[in-house]
Amino acid sequence: MKTSRIIKPLVGLAAMIAAAATANAAVPEVKAVPGEFIVKMKQAVDTSSIKSLSASLNAEGAEIVSEKGKVLLVKRNQLETAGFSMNALKNSGLVEYVEPNYIYNALNLPDDPMMDQLWGLINEGQSVGDLGEGTPDMDIDAEKAWSITTGSEDIVVAVIDTGVDYRIADLAPNMWANQAELNGQPGVDDDGNGFVDDVYGYDFVNNDGDPLDDHGHGSHCSGTIGARGNDANGIVGVAWNVKIMGLKFLSASGSGSLDAAVRAIDYAVANGANIMSNSWGGGPRSEALLEAIQRANEAGVSFIAAAGNHSANNDASPTYPANYEVDNVISVAAIDNRGQLASFSCYGSTTVHVAAPGVDILSTTPDGFKSWRGTSMATPHVSGVAALLLAQEPNLSPAEIRERIVFSARPKATLRNKVASNGIVNAYHALTNTAAPIDLMDPYFWPQEAAEHSTAHPYADNANESITFTKEGAEYIAVHFSRFETEGGYDFVIFKDAEGAEVARWSGTYDDSFSPSVPGDTIIIEFVSDSSVTKYGFDIDGIAFREAEGE
Ligand code: CA
Ligand code: CA
Repeated sequence: MKTSRIIKPLVGLAAMIAAAATANAAVPEVKAVPGEFIVKMKQAVDTSSIKSLSASLNAEGAEIVSEKGKVLLVKRNQLETAGFSMNALKNSGLVEYVEPNYIYNALNLPDDPMMDQLWGLINEGQSVGDLGEGTPDMDIDAEKAWSITTGSEDIVVAVIDTGVDYRIADLAPNMWANQAELNGQPGVDDDGNGFVDDVYGYDFVNNDGDPLDDHGHGSHCSGTIGARGNDANGIVGVAWNVKIMGLKFLSASGSGSLDAAVRAIDYAVANGANIMSNSWGGGPRSEALLEAIQRANEAGVSFIAAAGNHSANNDASPTYPANYEVDNVISVAAIDNRGQLASFSCYGSTTVHVAAPGVDILSTTPDGFKSWRGTSMATPHVSGVAALLLAQEPNLSPAEIRERIVFSARPKATLRNKVASNGIVNAYHALTNTAAPIDLMDPYFWPQEAAEHSTAHPYADNANESITFTKEGAEYIAVHFSRFETEGGYDFVIFKDAEGAEVARWSGTYDDSFSPSVPGDTIIIEFVSDSSVTKYGFDIDGIAFREAEGE
């Protein structure tokens, strides 16, 4: 009946990989299912009125997406332009709003080399893939958290993704199961929830009761959330014990449509999920998706979402669904095993809440264990922490869960002004409701002195300037920029130590930020612009320094 939902085979994954490879990649292009529109009706909708509604909308077909939300999927003649169809629907006078049936993509970035260590959970400095050695303890403090709780089978996490391979030995014991369907009759909606044979969840791509994963992404996310722990097998999830509900809305090629996303969210809410893990994104703001997330919030269900893999500042250019301003949304950025924001990760000092491990993350797939990267892989770490938290404190509201996760995140200098919490999700401090220790390498906490230097505003083409600051006796030194703006990817500020060794380079916008800290008592700041496009430049208004011990 709905075999032609996704007309175009997916290009999303290839596009995402390309996007991540480019330092200043554009937001992925907007795609929608041809001829299909999401329509919010003014009047109530139900199955008895659908035919006449379809006729009054001059549609080739219509289906209910959300009865409660008065949302329909309407199919118009594909020969019409989208603009014509949308105007016609609006002009009918029957509808509140009309949106294209947007297509979303999985936000993973598959990575080939096999990994065998879960540095995100327990980081002992082990070497990970191409990244080299990690920073010990740069993890979510899972080991300490597990001494408090390893989760509960009363907590249900809906993985809204490509499905879940519930046959994987590490996932099978932690699958949510609809008992009435499990013990019911094939072809019968035994529990009367409107879905036939939905034992482990539902497949909104093929519209059947089997959410088996034909891609791998959803199973990978599921393993990070809740691969069975202490079973002498495979890996372990953040929560050893949890119930994973498989809601497939992304196809075998990793793409899915707005109507399927709304259906999946509504299913999760109606069938007892506590948390939804959403490692996908794309497309502009959608009222229908926003309202589905609001319905979830009202029902007390958290919506944890990937911040995106196109290196954007989400405060300035939103990524959906992570940017919907609803209390249950937690937007997640990705870090590597040294606590650095991943080069591909989106960020945002107000709209992205927390960072989590998202580079070279080993987890379960239908083809065995794979190591992948992406904000897709960071998101399930936070979903897992939320599951542990709810196991311990089942009465927390989604707003309280978000507040706790932001408050208890472990601050990291590199994440200051990049995420609202300035830090990395921390399972132990979330469970104990305690503040994590500050980052002693964060210049924010160091003694500071006034200092001044500015470029021309705007700066010149082919600039090549150098300025040096010294604080005698300092072990580390950094400068503070009150304002910083260069042409992203072309005009650079390079930070060097006294010997001229490069420590870091910046390009783009970094207002009210400390520079990376440089070892020693001297920081050399070089500014090099190319032959076109000039921006504001920068203003330095102070230095910060860490004094050597014993001084
Ligand atoms: Ca059913
Ligand atoms: Ca295991």
